[in-house]
Amino acid sequence: MIVKNTVSPCWLASGAELDRAAGRAAEILSGSPVPVFFRADDLGAPGGNCRRMLDAFRERSVPLHLAATPAWLTPARWEVLRAWAGEDDLWCWHQHGWRHLNHQAEGKKSEFGPDRTDDELRADLTRGRDRLAAIMGDAFRPVFTPPWNRIDPRVGPILMDLGFTAVSRSSGEDEKVPLPPGLPDIPINVDLHTRREPDPAEGLGRLLMEFERAVDGGRVGVMLHHQRMNDAAFAFLDRCLAAAAGPGGPELLRLDRA
Ligand SMILES: [Zn+2]
Repeated sequence: MIVKNTVSPCWLASGAELDRAAGRAAEILSGSPVPVFFRADDLGAPGGNCRRMLDAFRERSVPLHLAATPAWLTPARWEVLRAWAGEDDLWCWHQHGWRHLNHQAEGKKSEFGPDRTDDELRADLTRGRDRLAAIMGDAFRPVFTPPWNRIDPRVGPILMDLGFTAVSRSSGEDEKVPLPPGLPDIPINVDLHTRREPDPAEGLGRLLMEFERAVDGGRVGVMLHHQRMNDAAFAFLDRCLAAAAGPGGPELLRLDRA
């Protein structure tokens, strides 16, 4: 699959609108009484935005969950990513599908959806886990983020068999496709970079609403797509990270230690 690099309209808003939105997001995060975590999807090929994202988290010492697509990662790419990330204990490198391919003939996209056979599901999940474990060694954490945030009900038990300890989808998926007891879903509920509102101000407004609802819901999970970030998106992210890492800030959650 080709990774999209389209910038959502909200990141093309005016400087004043962006500044106001970043201020509000920072206010919500710095005062958040509930835990906060960040998850970046579609890791694999090292690029300028990827490095910039890693630098941003490292500079603020904020943990980041990095969902890597196994088929995209090679030992050479891993060496680059690892060097950029550094040795800090901030990174939860984990599995994002196998090849990030949609296998559904119609309807919503999924790599591990109802159109796959049991054997196909297990084979691709196993291949992905084994490839990441072989390339990443001890840095690989047994957490699973499915491409497009959705899976068939048969996938949870397979993930448990394979030793996964947590799954991260979008909020609401757990009601549709519950996971077996012992395999928690720790969902994202704030989408920074794949927003579709055509009007920038509306996009920023809804983004802030997601932050507010996430706090009300008991946990803030922020999803990033670094390929789709521009300078404005990086500036906003840095305000969020500074707020989350500031004195009196929220608990910063690790999905592999939850
Ligand atoms: Zn993805």
